[in-house]
Amino acid sequence: MTLDIAIRKAATLKPKPAEDSLGFGRYFTDHVFVMDFAPDHGWHDARIVPNEPLGLEPAAAVLHYAQAIFDGLKAFRGADGRVRTFRLDDHCARLNRSAKRLCMPPIDPGWLHESIVELIRVEQDWVPRGSGTALYIRPTMIASEAFLGVRPADRYTYFVLLSPVGGYYSSKKDPVKIWVEMRHVRAAPGGLGGVKAASNYAASLPAAEEAKQRGFDQVLWLDALEHRWIEEVGTMNLFVRIGDEVLTPPLDDTFLAGITRDSVLRLLRDWGTKVTERRVSIDELRHAHAHGDLAEVFGTGTAAVISPVGLLGFPDGALTIGDGKAGPVAQRLSDALTGIQYARAEDRHGWMMPIT
Ligand code: PMP
Repeated sequence: MTLDIAIRKAATLKPKPAEDSLGFGRYFTDHVFVMDFAPDHGWHDARIVPNEPLGLEPAAAVLHYAQAIFDGLKAFRGADGRVRTFRLDDHCARLNRSAKRLCMPPIDPGWLHESIVELIRVEQDWVPRGSGTALYIRPTMIASEAFLGVRPADRYTYFVLLSPVGGYYSSKKDPVKIWVEMRHVRAAPGGLGGVKAASNYAASLPAAEEAKQRGFDQVLWLDALEHRWIEEVGTMNLFVRIGDEVLTPPLDDTFLAGITRDSVLRLLRDWGTKVTERRVSIDELRHAHAHGDLAEVFGTGTAAVISPVGLLGFPDGALTIGDGKAGPVAQRLSDALTGIQYARAEDRHGWMMPIT
């Protein structure tokens, strides 16, 4: 069943920001997609409307008990001028997994797909052209019922925001400095870490602030039970290269199953690189570093794509990774992924979907 979308255009359009100073998540396009859920109607009233305040009641459940989820993906303007999304349906599937975990009503995957495609079509002039730029897409679902009992709400709002973005950390691929977090925890077994629940990000703020005060960009999260096994880095999945083997921890419910992580694993396997999903302890990393074998550490995620780590900070000092610059595997992955995303290279896996 196709989605019937009503379109109400903004009377005046905003000026577009300069492409060399977009930053991340600071500018929003003229329109949003919105759809409501009510018990008798299911998901209904799909519309593309000017980007205006949502009009939530102060008692809306999301404002009290954080029943809120989102996802994040990008559309790119290719070398040929056409706009394409990267792994759109995988992101839609993840949004529905997040919805399920927070007792929220899933949305027909075809409808999710259409909500994003149709909004980008309306806003296609907002997809930037500059190197490293993209249109960031933020599908979000919140509990909008005005009710203060603790139970799943019976009314929800789903909306999609679009934001033209530059690089996440910086436009240059300078390696990031990461503090190894021994006290704060991102995700515990049985908790919410496996999905994109808004509350995960609120909970992560003190650790990131403390890391910044120490002069680091982000934290490396360890497991909640033993504070020993490496998990994720900031809002990215984590890869390390020890000698000629690339390692990443296997997924369980304390990891967000990153779509960039999955893409990286597929590329490495295509290339015949030795790559293993297994648990890696912080002691193993320190040991490998002491023996000169810790060749690369990098994060993977939609915002920064590949983010090389140049420094790992511990209470007793910091370890420089490799020569403190992006390593060869991180660089090759970054080139390969951005080559596919900007349609400079063949899309063998069918990750890109043309919108225009
Ligand atoms: N882990 C967390 C906690 C994240 O927020 C993200 C960003 N979505 C990732 C990993 C990377 O996921 P992806 O590659 O799908 O963007």
